Amino acid sequence: MAVKYDVAVAGLGAMGSAAARQLAMRGAKVVAFDRFEPPHALGSSHGATRVTRLAIGEGDHLTPLAVRSHELWRELGAESGAALLNECGLLIVSSDANAAQTHVSGFFDNTVAAAGRFGIAHELLDAAQIRARWPMFRVRDGEHGYFENTGGFVRPEACVRAQLESARRHGAELRTNERVLGFDAGTHGVTVTTGKGSYATERLIVAAGPWLPELLPPSLAALFKIYRQIQVWLEVEDAAAFAPQRFPVFIWELQNSTRGIYGFPALAGEHAIKLASEEFLSVTTPAAMDRDVHVEEIAAVQALATANIGGIGARCVRGAACLYTVTRDFGFVIDRHPDSERVIIASPCSGHGFKHSPAIGEALADMAVGRAPRFNLAPFAFARFAR
Ligand SMILES: Cc1cc2nc3c(=O)[nH]c(=O)nc-3n(C[C@H](O)[C@H](O)[C@H](O)COP(=O)(O)OP(=O)(O)OC[C@H]3O[C@@H](n4cnc5c(N)ncnc54)[C@H](O)[C@@H]3O)c2cc1C
Repeated sequence: MAVKYDVAVAGLGAMGSAAARQLAMRGAKVVAFDRFEPPHALGSSHGATRVTRLAIGEGDHLTPLAVRSHELWRELGAESGAALLNECGLLIVSSDANAAQTHVSGFFDNTVAAAGRFGIAHELLDAAQIRARWPMFRVRDGEHGYFENTGGFVRPEACVRAQLESARRHGAELRTNERVLGFDAGTHGVTVTTGKGSYATERLIVAAGPWLPELLPPSLAALFKIYRQIQVWLEVEDAAAFAPQRFPVFIWELQNSTRGIYGFPALAGEHAIKLASEEFLSVTTPAAMDRDVHVEEIAAVQALATANIGGIGARCVRGAACLYTVTRDFGFVIDRHPDSERVIIASPCSGHGFKHSPAIGEALADMAVGRAPRFNLAPFAFARFAR
């Protein structure tokens, strides 16, 4: 073990790639591993689009991360030349009679409150105003909307690729197709063991997405539940009507279904829109999950979509299965390992982490090099689960 690194990163998806870039930009000597060749379609960061929004209904502490992330997406977009962030606008629809709930109770009201508190420009719309602006949404009287014109979508694969290329340009040593088997943290450093060797490092960031439980002792692993999700692309009759200039990203807390629905505009050159719901019925693992998307699953999303949105055709052009790593409060974990302050655990999923990944990468890098992160990370601590 001739080389001693400042920081090792295990996992180069959304979080690990962002952390590796930020570490390299700080001049740290970084080695970073992924068991596959990211961006890939086996974890949590694939499927062409992710919702982004600035006012965050899942918790007040998250809005500053989203705001900072948009700054960083722009910076990375300029550096890479890739289209990463599209602020085409975001609409959230809900009502007093909503049966579906997005991650936490009071999501809609929390979003509006966060927008007010943090000065995020937005419009509140009634059902008639929503229908007038986007006639394809069959909103019922009594439903209402929150529209944020700085919301929209990010492109997960392009983001991960850009983070990794930038990390490499700034000097990070990226070792893909090299699986971390375990780590041993002592007083003088951490030894990371992979399928190809051993590495000595001062600090380790574990950002293994849905594989995280494999790298934790059972008591910590039990805090994370892995749920399979599906995304489907349904053909639209008039692609121009669903282009980002005319159709927003949306999240709809439906009245007539406990499953909500969210979706995206048609991307350039595509005649389909991506739609999804969320499901938390049975837990799985990356190894055990069913990676096929089945006809009846597509039909269920299609039924929700066609009952509520006009202009959607019968043909599904693509489906993808993906994994959520969920905590019981739908929050994130960004904290030091209870057994070693040299090891930092990053699990910002619970189905809404991607939009925050650049700011989380920055915070992880600061933690690892001993700088104070610009955000209060206390809400992400393991300690909350002891209460
Ligand atoms: C269907 C779906 C829709 C979503 N929608 C949204 C959305 O609209 N907006 C939003 O903000 N968020 C959304 N999310 C959540 C978001 O995508 C996740 O928060 C984010 O992708 C998590 O990134 P990660 O880096 O933690 O995990 P991943 O991106 O999965 O990365 C983990 C990486 O670790 C590697 N790895 C694992 N084990 C090891 C090991 N032992 N050794 C080396 N490498 C290892 C894996 O190969 C992988 O590359 C969605 C997630 C899904 C699944």
